[in-house]
Amino acid sequence: MNNSAKDFRILLYYKFVPIPEPEQFAAQHRQYCKDLGLKGRILIAAEGINGTVSGTVEQTNQYMADMHANPLFADMVFKVDEADEHAFKKMFVRHKKELVTFRYEEELDPNVIGGKRLSPAEFHEQLQQEDVIVLDGRSNYEYDLGHFRNAIRPDIESFREFPDWIRENMAELKDKPILTYCTGGIRCEKLTGFLIKEGFQDVAQLEGGIVTYGQDPEVKGRLFDGKCYVFDERISVPINRTDEDIVVGKCHHCGKPADTFINCANDFCHLQHICCEECEEVHSSCCSDECEELVLTAR
Ligand SMILES: [Zn+2]
Ligand SMILES: [Zn+2]
Repeated sequence: MNNSAKDFRILLYYKFVPIPEPEQFAAQHRQYCKDLGLKGRILIAAEGINGTVSGTVEQTNQYMADMHANPLFADMVFKVDEADEHAFKKMFVRHKKELVTFRYEEELDPNVIGGKRLSPAEFHEQLQQEDVIVLDGRSNYEYDLGHFRNAIRPDIESFREFPDWIRENMAELKDKPILTYCTGGIRCEKLTGFLIKEGFQDVAQLEGGIVTYGQDPEVKGRLFDGKCYVFDERISVPINRTDEDIVVGKCHHCGKPADTFINCANDFCHLQHICCEECEEVHSSCCSDECEELVLTAR
């Protein structure tokens, strides 16, 4: 281990595999994770597992080894990020009906139907093809903080809205090559299956998502502008490690380039918004004058 190595790690992973008695498995897994000392969020459904956890190097190594020893998860791919501390306050393991909530009438099993999987290098090359349509597989606020250059911004606030949005906005693009991407890859597993069922002819997805793309030693996050929104206490992580790194987020108040998300200081609001350093001070970390007034009068 070199001197720059950090003490903590964050694991991001998922696998679509039938889990027998998922509710019972979730209860056992919750106890196991707590005993091990991990923190994070894990969803378990009959269709598989999706998790982000943080822990020390030893704890996360133990977790990966134990998971790989389970035949269900023997080939699970873990995306590993270094960190200085835990990225969560608690450990949640929940049983859910489905791993990704998506408003669509038919079943989408990624082991049966899905887009072509592209490595970071392949995706980087495809991004530069003429005529290709790059569709961000995430929500609008994630896009606003950072995205692949020239990607379409879906104006949705949650993933379940995607089917309706695509039907309304992308119907004429069915014969174009479509590239999709999301944070870690799991949302594209459902999104590409849906696109194919809707009649899109040529659909591909970024294997391992933006996080894997950012770690690739060859592409170095090239053509990703801004930062990647993540669902833990870090809120965002850098992706582009070339000198083309730029800020694409805009301050909610003044519109200047900014890439820090804060939660509105009004406890009844907590709106997450991009805010520059100056405005955070001027507006007392609030999203609006109304919120600020409430916060200041409550003091
Ligand atoms: Zn500002
Ligand atoms: Zn507010």
